Amino acid sequence: MKPFRYEHADDVSGAIAMLARAPRGAFLAGGTNLVDLMKLEVATPDVLVDVRHLTSDRIEELADGGLRIGAAVPNSDLAANRAVRRRYPVLSEAVLAGASGQLRNVATTAGNLLQRTRCVYFQDVTTPCNKREPGSGCSAREGFHRELAILGWSEQCIATHPSDMAVAMVALDAVVLTQGANGPRRIPLTELHRLPGQQPERDTVLEHGELITAVDLPPLAFATRSRFRKVRDRASYAFALVSVAAALDVADGVVRDVRVALGGVAHKPWRATRAEAALRGAPATERSFVDAAAAELADARPLPGNAFKVPVARGAIVRTLLDLLEVQR
Ligand SMILES: Cc1cc2nc3c(=O)[nH]c(=O)nc-3n(C[C@H](O)[C@H](O)[C@H](O)COP(=O)(O)OP(=O)(O)OC[C@H]3O[C@@H](n4cnc5c(N)ncnc54)[C@H](O)[C@@H]3O)c2cc1C
Ligand code: SF4
Repeated sequence: MKPFRYEHADDVSGAIAMLARAPRGAFLAGGTNLVDLMKLEVATPDVLVDVRHLTSDRIEELADGGLRIGAAVPNSDLAANRAVRRRYPVLSEAVLAGASGQLRNVATTAGNLLQRTRCVYFQDVTTPCNKREPGSGCSAREGFHRELAILGWSEQCIATHPSDMAVAMVALDAVVLTQGANGPRRIPLTELHRLPGQQPERDTVLEHGELITAVDLPPLAFATRSRFRKVRDRASYAFALVSVAAALDVADGVVRDVRVALGGVAHKPWRATRAEAALRGAPATERSFVDAAAAELADARPLPGNAFKVPVARGAIVRTLLDLLEVQR
């Protein structure tokens, strides 16, 4: 591990000012991803500014009926929160599908959103990787890419975003609150993470030194009927090959409203807007679910090692929606 300085600030603006003076510095929360990457020398910040105690670790009611999740809320507390479990079960299920109990006790909301890809070449400094070292090449294209993207990838990078929690939050239209040198911002979670394009080194639209302070969940009555499904190599302690977060609202046998997002398929949590558009107003039947899943995956560009993800994603969408339909009967 490269030497680094460890700093505390008294408040949020102090932490932001510290990083403004340290172009190679980073915020530290639970450290469960960042410290691992530092040990591998994938991340080499010269200053760590500890922000864990600067942002809220509480979940609060919002006046509009939604919830505000502080950036420092541990993943365990989020999954166990009574209001989250009752009003947004998909989020609780997604968090519990990730990592382990010990890790979830330490990992935070903001850190979870900003965890980096698990592409094996990104984590191995002896191999070319455009995300780690722009312009060096992408080892995964001709190498091991079984776990990597089938949608929205570029010639520069085919990595996937690893967070399960983010997939549920994208389905719920969550909004990220930040503070930075240019003041506060509210960023829809669907716009926080980027597709790789020509700049795979940038995972998100955040500026250097922009601090996530909270995540807002808007009210969504039918999210009480929502589910998370994760397809992975082992039943626990494994990242998603494909995941689905969905909520379904059916009246008189017709889909009144629906939310679908996919994980493990792209550089960002993938909101399945085509599937949603195909489903709104359609009969709530397996046929409609199959057609919607096919519409979403129509533009998939699998590579030889991950072509299996296309039928797996289609099947996971259909199965999750059928489960939700069953709940409504
Ligand atoms: C063995 C193992 C298995 C795992 N399995 C899964 C899994 O199946 N599914 C899953 O989703 N995750 C999994 N994880 C990842 C885990 O969820 C993340 O490591 C964790 O959520 C990161 O949170 P943290 O608070 O520890 O972040 P840190 O490691 O402290 O930080 C992560 C990043 O966020 C930045 N950051 C932190 N807080 C802020 C803030 N407030 N504002 C701006 N930037 C900030 C840091 O600078 C850093 O870049 C696994 C991790 C391990 C080690
Ligand atoms: S897929 Fe992205 S992260 Fe993986 S080796 Fe290629 S450039 Fe690096």
